Formats: sequence, structure tokens, C-alpha cells
Amino acid sequence: MQYEAERIYLDYNATTPLDPRVFEAMKPYFLENFGNSASGQHSWGWTAEAAVTKARAQVASLIHAKPQEIYFTSGSTEGNNWAFFGLFHQLRIENPGAPIHILTSAVEHSSVLRSAEALAAMGAEVEVLPVNEFGQVDPEKVRLALKPHTRLMSFIWTNNEIGSVNPMAELAQIAKDHKVYFHSDATQAAGKSLVDLQKIGVDLLTLSGHKIYGPKGVGACYIRSQNPRVTLQPLLYGGGHERGLRSGTVNVPGVVGLGAACEIASKELTVEEQRTSALRDLIWTRLKSEFPTAIRNGHPTERSPINMSVTLPGCFLDEALPRLQKLGFSSGSACSAGRISRSHVLAAIGKNEEEASCTLRLSVGRMTTEGEVLRAVEMISNAFKSHHVTL
Ligand code: PMP
Repeated sequence: MQYEAERIYLDYNATTPLDPRVFEAMKPYFLENFGNSASGQHSWGWTAEAAVTKARAQVASLIHAKPQEIYFTSGSTEGNNWAFFGLFHQLRIENPGAPIHILTSAVEHSSVLRSAEALAAMGAEVEVLPVNEFGQVDPEKVRLALKPHTRLMSFIWTNNEIGSVNPMAELAQIAKDHKVYFHSDATQAAGKSLVDLQKIGVDLLTLSGHKIYGPKGVGACYIRSQNPRVTLQPLLYGGGHERGLRSGTVNVPGVVGLGAACEIASKELTVEEQRTSALRDLIWTRLKSEFPTAIRNGHPTERSPINMSVTLPGCFLDEALPRLQKLGFSSGSACSAGRISRSHVLAAIGKNEEEASCTLRLSVGRMTTEGEVLRAVEMISNAFKSHHVTL
């Protein structure tokens, strides 16, 4: 990044910097256009409302949905919780006492896994499916796991730790054929590679601003409006914002930022996808030549354009961390907070404790240059120098 010549940030899966263009779009909504989008009686309110309407359309356009299918949230943790709890409560109201079977996978984000667990404590029957060696859900296993009372399946679109993309078209088809609601956490997919809900129909989808060069603390939940129309119970009760489903004064600057981020991501998607994939692959080829025993985690081709997760056998990250202070990378999901322990995703693809402690996640983004990637690999190589000459 130009303003930090020495440090190199390769942790775009954890979060992204705000795009300066997004910041420019947001600014007026902190200052002169500070109105409440729910103030329907004056021009301050109308200006804010118009901005929120525009943002809703920008988000919808990124995922090829309709504006009325977009509900603003505080991010993907909230969106994932809402999808689970909102649907569960709805189903309970529609059919009290009926059993509810939920399918999800072992590599989901904690906000999905913990929500599923909470629903299990409330009486849902939750099944967490194992994944293949690449961390993908096997559609055949899903088919076999279906029960007459399966009501929801939730599978991550693109994995945040190892980058693998799930076979979404097949999974969506299974859901459709069996009339099961399909939720996908698309936090790491939307804005990075094509998410076209006209081609791959899901019923509920979550995304987050801070993964796509938008602000933190703002995201969106897509709720399908037709074929079938999905009904969730409200997430928050109050003044009836977001069509009665998520009350609370809308974070207008945040929402404007999310909209702008979606529009930019949409326009630049094809070019950026190619550019970042090349950088991602450069990380792999350079690391492999420095560390011949290196293992790439996740699917070789069906993967996020920004993510490279690598295990360097015998290279323990905790030992090298003091020498890697200037490199922003991750040794697990950032959401599992600053400790090197075996992540549930690495465990699910069969990594043992030792392999997990030799695993790093490097993720590139809009501001990453080839020079940065080359220097980062050099930093890693130097950090383990004493180690790998003896390998
Ligand atoms: N899902 C995935 C796949 C993620 O990567 C993250 C962020 N680490 C989240 C959900 C949570 O998103 P947020 O930070 O917007 O709550």
C-alpha cells in the first residue's frame, strides 16, 4: 500500500481498506446530508432516503437481485444470525411443533455454526456435514442427508480461510428440487467473483461491506421475494425500518458506502478477478520454490481469486512471528482472534495440530502489487531461513 511503504498487508480476507472513492461517496452523508432516512416530512429526510434507495439498488445489482430483496444489516454476522433465527421463528409460527431439520457444513463461519448450535438448543435438529479434502461440500452427501422435514440448508459460498468455492449451482438445484430453503454466506464471494442470483438461485444470502472496500459495521441480507417468497421474522422490533424487519435508524453514510463499494466491485470485477488471481498464484509459485515441501490448501482451481492458504511443514509460525511483524497475514481466521490454534476449517480438511501451526493464509486485494507479493515471500523465506536450510 502506497502510504505504508514498509509494511505489507496481505490479509484482505480479514478486512479491506476503504476505497477512497467509497469514502468520497460517504462524506456528504456525515456532514451536510445528515438527515434521517425515515423523516418523510422534509428534504433532509428525502435526501437521505434517496441515498438509501440508490444504495439498495447498487447492492442488488452486484448480486443480480431486486432492490426490494435487499435489507441492510450491520454485517455478515448479523445477516447469518438473522437468516437462521428469522427463518426458524417463522417456521415455528407457521407450523408449531413440526420438526425442523437444518443442514450445514463443518467449514462455515462461526456466525453460522454458533447460530445453528443455538437453534439446536431451541429444538432444531442440526446436522453439520463433513467436507472433502478441499473443504467443499459434496452435493451427494447433501442429497443423502435430506429428510422429509429438512427446511434449511446453509453452505458458505467461498471459504474465508482456505478459499475453496462450493459447488453452488448443484447445491441450489438440490434445495430447489426438495423445496428446502437455501442460505449462503457469500461474504467472501460477493464483489470478488460473480455472484449472479439469476443463475444460481439461493433464498437467503449475506454479504458485508468491509470485505469489499466498504465501511465496517454495514452489510446486507438478501431475502428472495418470489418463487418462493421467503418470509423471516423480524430481527429487531421498533420503528419499522427496513420494511418492518430490521428496525433502527438506518446507518445512512454506511449504507451509501456499501452501495458505492458494490458498484465499484461490480464494474471492476472481471479485471480485478484476473489481476488478483495472478497475484494469488504468484504467492503459491514463489512459496513453492522457496519451500519445496509446501502444501496448498483448498481447491486448486475452484477457489477465491484473493486467497492462498499454505502449509509449510516444519515451519512453525509462532516461532517466526517476531520476524514477520511487518507482514499482515493470518494464521487462521481473523475472527477466531489472534491465537494460533487449529482452526475448525483446517481440522475439517484433516490438518493436525502441528500442520495447522505451520499454516498461513495470505490474501491479496485491490491495493496489492506484484512487488509486495515478491517482498512478502522474501520476508517469509527469511523468517524461516535457519529452518529451511536444514530441511
Ligand atoms: N462470514 C464470513 C465468511 C466471513 O469471512 C466473515 C468475516 N470474517 C463473516 C461472516 C462475518 O462478517 P462481519 O465481519 O461483517 O460480521
